[in-house]
Amino acid sequence: MNALSKEQAAPLAAAVSGRVVLPDAPEFDELRKVWNGMVDRHPAAIVQCASADDVAPAIAFARGRGLTISVRGGGHHIAGNSIADGGLVIDFSAMRAVRVDAARRSAAVEPGATLADFDAAVQRHGLVVPVGINSTTGISGLTLGGGFGWLTRKYGLTIDALRSADVITADGEKLCASASENADLFWALRGGGGNFGVVTRYEFEPSPLGPNIVAGLIVYPFAQAKQVLTRYRDFVAGAPEELTAWIVLRHAPPLPFLPADVHGTKVVVVALAYCGDVSQAEVVAAPLHVLGAAHGAHVGEMPYVDWQKAFDPLLAPGARNYWKSHNFTELSDAALDTKIEYAGRLPSPQCEIFIGHLAGAPNRVARNATAYLARDAKFVMNVHARWDDSAQDAECIGWAHDLFRASAPYASGGAYVNFMTEDEGERVAAAYGENYERLREIKRRYDPQNVFHMNQNIKP
Ligand SMILES: Cc1cc2nc3c(=O)[nH]c(=O)nc-3n(C[C@H](O)[C@H](O)[C@H](O)COP(=O)(O)OP(=O)(O)OC[C@H]3O[C@@H](n4cnc5c(N)ncnc54)[C@H](O)[C@@H]3O)c2cc1C
Repeated sequence: MNALSKEQAAPLAAAVSGRVVLPDAPEFDELRKVWNGMVDRHPAAIVQCASADDVAPAIAFARGRGLTISVRGGGHHIAGNSIADGGLVIDFSAMRAVRVDAARRSAAVEPGATLADFDAAVQRHGLVVPVGINSTTGISGLTLGGGFGWLTRKYGLTIDALRSADVITADGEKLCASASENADLFWALRGGGGNFGVVTRYEFEPSPLGPNIVAGLIVYPFAQAKQVLTRYRDFVAGAPEELTAWIVLRHAPPLPFLPADVHGTKVVVVALAYCGDVSQAEVVAAPLHVLGAAHGAHVGEMPYVDWQKAFDPLLAPGARNYWKSHNFTELSDAALDTKIEYAGRLPSPQCEIFIGHLAGAPNRVARNATAYLARDAKFVMNVHARWDDSAQDAECIGWAHDLFRASAPYASGGAYVNFMTEDEGERVAAAYGENYERLREIKRRYDPQNVFHMNQNIKP
């Protein structure tokens, strides 16, 4: 392992206002941990930035010593690219501030903020930005890959609300990227991941919502899966964009509103959020309650920020995780049958199949308007293989691969870089499709030596 000594790291420590954490420091192990428990990497040093001014010296130091640079926002990417063995981690965990200017409809956020930090700060002003569904996720990686969640049908992807970003390039140059300044870089950042530089600040244009929305879960027996999923598909095709319903096929967690004998059995979960007039929610969402004979339901008015945390307990950090995902423009009967077949043999109690519904605002943006390509996707399937014992690695990963292959004929192509595992490098070009060549051109301009390669890499 290429750990840096205190003497070797001294020039870096002198050049930054944040802390340089070396492997012998007590907090080092905590700082090198990422969400996915399968990733166990040992960097040479971690620079915990205190301000944007720490980034250029960190890049220069790493380049001078030939150290691989990784950039850590919230540490949630499944591939664990925020940490490189023997590299220098540019860590933003101490930079999480959010500044909201409600009059200007502006929310500026530092790159270490989690979605919980961000949601809470913008909600204090009655505002939202569409982000992901797990509040411990970092705003940084989520945004750079695209970003979607409960509000996406109505308000678009996270990148669709991005107004500008401050970026430090591989040469240490400070740039602002927006529609009017460095517009090519701004285009590339919106879906192109961490390929072009280190982002030190994001500015979003939030929309009014809250504090309450109507949201919750309806849980059906797995034996009714075909009927529930078919009716779900038919209903959501005409549902208003204020209503978002996602499907989760899994073993029932011990939710208090479910009878005890349902806990641990296979179920179909409909998770819904309604971001329109709360008085209308019950009527609009009523069909989701009669897709079959439900085991139970817990749907009601609640603070938006609470619903944003609803899935946190099921997605807590530390477990072993492996994902496979596909985009869909429609859910054919055969596509549903495949998901049901594989949900019938979940290899561990924590494995699950997510079907996210995105039809709406994202589909109205042109495929080449941002680097993010899959603007036609109406559904995203994410196969979450998740388990605790490494002895189950092959079984769980194999199940995810088999389901991925069996679903491929019904998928619409492309891929979401934020869901791609370490071994999916060959999918990067497919993820960007006709946007890939333009991304390569921009990469050649801003990072010709591929200094930033710990990501879903766009090769210059
Ligand atoms: C439990 C869970 C739930 C999720 N739910 C959703 C969801 O609902 N919707 C959705 O769209 N996605 C979701 N995701 C995927 C998520 O968007 C990605 O994992 C995302 O990359 C996480 O961002 P992060 O900052 O936490 O990750 P990190 O691992 O810290 O960063 C990921 C990569 O982004 C780049 N990066 C990070 N910060 C910067 C920066 N400041 N400058 C330049 N590059 C940077 C780096 O290449 C880094 O390797 C989920 C992930 C998890 C683990």
